[in-house]
Amino acid sequence: MIKQMKEQLTNKYGINDAVLKLYDKALNDVEGRFKALDEIREFNQLKVLNAMQEERISESHFTNSSGYGYGDMGRDSLDKVYARIFNCESAIVRPHFVNGTHALGSALFGNLRPNDTMVCVCGKPYDTLHSVIGIDGGERIGSLREFGVHYNQVELKENGKPDLETIKKVLEEDETIKLVHIQRSTGYGWRNSLSISDIKEIIDCTKSVRKNIICFVDNCYGEFIDILEPTDIGADLVAGSLIKNIGGGITPTGGYIAGTKECVEQASYRLTVPGIGGECGSTFGVMRSMYQGLFLAPHVAMEALKGAILCSRIMELAGFEVLPKYDEDRSDIIQAIKFNDKEKLIQFCKGIQMGSPIDSFASCEPWDMPGYADQVIMAAGAFIQGSSIELSADAPIREPYIAYLQGGLTFDHAKIGTLIALSKILN
Ligand SMILES: *Cc1c(COP(=O)(O)O)cnc(C)c1O
Repeated sequence: MIKQMKEQLTNKYGINDAVLKLYDKALNDVEGRFKALDEIREFNQLKVLNAMQEERISESHFTNSSGYGYGDMGRDSLDKVYARIFNCESAIVRPHFVNGTHALGSALFGNLRPNDTMVCVCGKPYDTLHSVIGIDGGERIGSLREFGVHYNQVELKENGKPDLETIKKVLEEDETIKLVHIQRSTGYGWRNSLSISDIKEIIDCTKSVRKNIICFVDNCYGEFIDILEPTDIGADLVAGSLIKNIGGGITPTGGYIAGTKECVEQASYRLTVPGIGGECGSTFGVMRSMYQGLFLAPHVAMEALKGAILCSRIMELAGFEVLPKYDEDRSDIIQAIKFNDKEKLIQFCKGIQMGSPIDSFASCEPWDMPGYADQVIMAAGAFIQGSSIELSADAPIREPYIAYLQGGLTFDHAKIGTLIALSKILN
């Protein structure tokens, strides 16, 4: 570290020598992991480049559309670019999805019918899906349950791997199961993300029971972390958010769904309405940033991943329990840190906020966020509101007080933010 950097960290942020020592050691420990990540990034960059070239993307795809948005060629071609990247038949990529939950919800509502059953095979799904499915106590809000869609759940095994035996048994015993829901990322849990080969095992197991069960993957935070996506290895349907990995920090809002023609078409009728699907929807001039974000995404996702790995090591060296450890394989960009202490958790998040380019002067506090049962604290000094491909940390306020750190448009920012946050809890 150059002298001027050290001086600034010490004088401006009060980071002491002990923390800087940990930093040097952590950086040294993690660097060996990075060559393999750079090779994945390189391949995914080529994948995106190829897809854009094959679809002959040009300036004319960045134009605006209005009203119904019929024949918006920027929008329609981006769908095709995504379908190429995901190596599948079809995709819808839209700024009209308000977030990842909306894209996931559309995929579920579009493909399930009354008396069908969906099974989550990674334990409880991500918090915001509880209301969509109707497993949160059940106000009258039009959940899947209210429309007669049944729910079942298979827990992960003790070691965090899918319980294939139980999954098989459940599928064999219940003919009404129409969709298997697989969550790649950890969500607000304490487990490893599922690797592409873990996901393949679930899909192979499912298809061995009945070929027509839809294998649906919540791909949030997973894009471009591997050279394969779930659709490369047999998933029928995936969905995710554009303000996470695949938006590259540039795409201002939205979500995507990709998969088989049939599944994506069904989902598109819940993006809009039956009969209209993906053929309407003007794009307000955002197409350029949707393409540009996608183009940058392989790089940005790896910057974030490197940030997570460094954070894992430095927090571990500082004495905290972390998941995953720095030398474990990863399939998402999330780093979980267990504090066992409410105050430390809050201080950590406040530290990430302090280290943000936007709203660094603001102090984040736990609040009742829509869609979450517990209070949630979110440090997100981001250019795009709530963007978690930008350096961010969040946590539901519940025992054992785990913070989830993710993002960092640049590895350097992730390093600096983590240093500030660690220093804040140690002081
Ligand atoms: C982020 C996320 C979602 C969707 O969250 P939004 O805030 O609605 O975009 C769903 N599932 C998982 C696993 C996630 O990480």
